[in-house]
Amino acid sequence: MKTIGLIGGMSWESSAVYYRLINDGVRRRLGGLHSARCLIWSFDFADIEALQRAGRWDDATALMIDAARRLERGGAAFVMICTNTMHRMADDVQDAIGVSLLHIADPTADRIRADGLRRVGLLGTAFTMEQDFYKGRLAGRHGLDVLVPDADDRQTIHRVIFQELVQGRLLPASRQACREIIGRLVERGAQAVILGCTELMLLLGPQDSPVPLYDTTALHAQAAVTMSLE
Ligand code: GLU
Repeated sequence: MKTIGLIGGMSWESSAVYYRLINDGVRRRLGGLHSARCLIWSFDFADIEALQRAGRWDDATALMIDAARRLERGGAAFVMICTNTMHRMADDVQDAIGVSLLHIADPTADRIRADGLRRVGLLGTAFTMEQDFYKGRLAGRHGLDVLVPDADDRQTIHRVIFQELVQGRLLPASRQACREIIGRLVERGAQAVILGCTELMLLLGPQDSPVPLYDTTALHAQAAVTMSLE
C-alpha cells in the first residue's frame, strides 16, 4: 500500500470526511484491520481564506508547495489537495515535487464521461466557478461542456460555503437555495451537477437534485484509495 499525502484543513470539515472515506475504502478493499497509510498536513484555514480573499495567490501557492514538499519528505508516494479551489495552483505544486499530484477534477470528469454525460453544471467557490483553472481542465482535458450559475447564484453559493459550510453550519434555507440554483442549471441543460467544493456534500445529496450530483470529495477519496493500492 502506498502512503497518501493529504493537504487538508481547507476546511477541516471536509478533510475529516476525506479521512473517513479513505480509511473506509481501504478497509472495503483489503478487509480485516486494514486502514489507509497516510499523512495529513492540515492548514489553519483562516490563513488560507485571508490569502484567497486578498487575491494573494502567489503566497497561497508557496504554502501549497511547502505542504506538498513536507508530505513528500515524510514519505508520501503521491499527494492530493483536499479542496477544489486550491487546484488553482495544482500545476505549480506538481512542478515543485517529485511525486504525483492526484488532481481532483480528473476522477470527477472520468466518472461523468464513463456515465455518458457531457453537459455539466458546476457549483463551488466563486474562484472555482469564475476562474479558468477548473472549468478549463474539465473542458480542455476531458471535453465537458461546463455551465456555471449566474452572478447572483454564484454569490449565494460562495457565501454559503464561507459563512456556513466551512464553519460546520448546515442550514435548511441554504439547502433550499442550492436546490433552486441546481434547478436553474438543469433548465439550462445541465445533465449532471458537480459539487465542486469539498464541503457541498455536507449540505446536498441525491434527493436535492433532479439530475445526478458528482461529489468531488468522494470521487477524489476513491481515486486515492485506488492509487494507493495499485
Ligand atoms: N473546500 C472548498 C473547495 O473545495 C473551499 C475552501 C477553499 O476555498 O479552499 O473549494
